[in-house]
Amino acid sequence: MADPRLIVVGAGPAGMRAAETLVAAGLRPVVIDEGTASGGQIYRRQPAGFTRTPEMLYGPDAAKARALHSGFDALGDRIDYRPDSLAWNLRDSVLHVVQAGVSTALPFDALILATGATDRLLPIRGWSLPGCYSLGGAQISLKAQACSIGARPVFLGTGPLLYLVASQYVKAGIKVAGVLDTAAATAQFRAVGDLLVRPGLLARGMAMRVALKAAGVRVEQGIVPIAIEGPDQVGAVLYRTASGEQRRTACDAVGMGFHLRSETQLADLAGCTFLFDGATGQWRPETDEDGRTSCAGIYTAGDGARILGADAAEAAGRLAALAVLADLGRSVDDVAVKKLKRRLGRLDRFRRGLATAFPWPAELARAISDDIIVCRCEAVTAGQIRDASGAKGAPELNRAKALSRVGMGRCQGRYCGSAAAEILAAARGIDLPEVGRLRGQAPVKPLSMATVRSDK
Ligand SMILES: Cc1cc2nc3c(=O)[nH]c(=O)nc-3n(C[C@H](O)[C@H](O)[C@H](O)COP(=O)(O)OP(=O)(O)OC[C@H]3O[C@@H](n4cnc5c(N)ncnc54)[C@H](O)[C@@H]3O)c2cc1C
Repeated sequence: MADPRLIVVGAGPAGMRAAETLVAAGLRPVVIDEGTASGGQIYRRQPAGFTRTPEMLYGPDAAKARALHSGFDALGDRIDYRPDSLAWNLRDSVLHVVQAGVSTALPFDALILATGATDRLLPIRGWSLPGCYSLGGAQISLKAQACSIGARPVFLGTGPLLYLVASQYVKAGIKVAGVLDTAAATAQFRAVGDLLVRPGLLARGMAMRVALKAAGVRVEQGIVPIAIEGPDQVGAVLYRTASGEQRRTACDAVGMGFHLRSETQLADLAGCTFLFDGATGQWRPETDEDGRTSCAGIYTAGDGARILGADAAEAAGRLAALAVLADLGRSVDDVAVKKLKRRLGRLDRFRRGLATAFPWPAELARAISDDIIVCRCEAVTAGQIRDASGAKGAPELNRAKALSRVGMGRCQGRYCGSAAAEILAAARGIDLPEVGRLRGQAPVKPLSMATVRSDK
């Protein structure tokens, strides 16, 4: 009998561990990643010729990065690894992948989607000025290219990445002008019970904050952003402090992010059932504990399924691969499966703690002024979204998209979708789940007009 055709999309911690597990069972998966090197977000590798050590790049996670990279590299040609390859469509158990302008159709028996996450963004007056980056973008520029987004950046938003990226900039010798967190200190106290399941990580987060203050960085919690000011490029951030005072912090760049959102478009194109996660206000593919989606042969793992962090992504990748093996009728180690599930359960409690500590500021999204651009790709304002709902009667997000073009551009709603949903729900006076979610469309990311089809 021919070997089953197995594909893993994503060579981050989840996808790398999934591939390793399949190889250990004697199988040879195809591993697709749009990046040039494996590692995913947290363990992103630097380009050839850069000489920073893992300790400099990954700090206290250097040992984990080394282990993951060397384990994956050792797979050699026991996997069919395809970097620089974008999975852009998924239909009828066929994945469409473009590499160097050539699109290939890959039929599969089992597919593990380990596609990770991206920043969750909130439109603020001035957020489309030159010099305003996503937090993830600010970190990638430092980690991959050793470049700073500015000489005096402000980091604005909420989530663990806010403090991490600011600390990484300080360590790199950049004068950080401020860390402005929309989450109140009280939210973070409320979360301590759940966060204590990972005391080491909690302590690391607290130490980061102490170190930022010791470096002279202004750290403020419970702020309300008012505007990123120009005129022609980022010059300052205007905000209200937790005590209601209006302040302006001069800066030449802003790194902005409000925790993360899962990359779920491929699961959507496959027709997987989604569920609404009330704790984060986001939709995600419905799966069983092992990562099986509602579509036979399609599995999810890591941050692409649920934002649980890198350690959980490794465990979820292994678990999804073991589920693939079990579904193919191969024997799997039940003890290992139970152990991985226990670990994920514990890490899920930490995730709940993070959602409490760093809540998505839904009320700020609902109050975005009419003249502010929400969808940058199509230049759609909050007022136009309200108009689509009010005057034009759009009852849900996809209709609002058709009427206003929100989420119709290059990013396909990745960056504006969360805020657009809040604006629409508020305008119609309905709960967030009732406005639904933007349906995924192929190509999930832009393709070159010169793309050709491979006939192989
Ligand atoms: C920008 C950013 C920076 C982060 N930095 C940190 C950090 O410093 N420390 C920390 O603890 N956590 C960090 N996180 C969170 C952390 O990255 C994750 O918890 C962890 O990496 C999740 O692993 P994963 O394998 O699920 O996904 P990822 O590591 O995100 O890997 C997903 C992979 O899938 C690939 N991919 C996605 N879609 C496609 C597609 N359609 N076609 C082909 N390839 C695709 C991507 O290129 C990527 O390599 C960060 C997250 C983001 C978004």
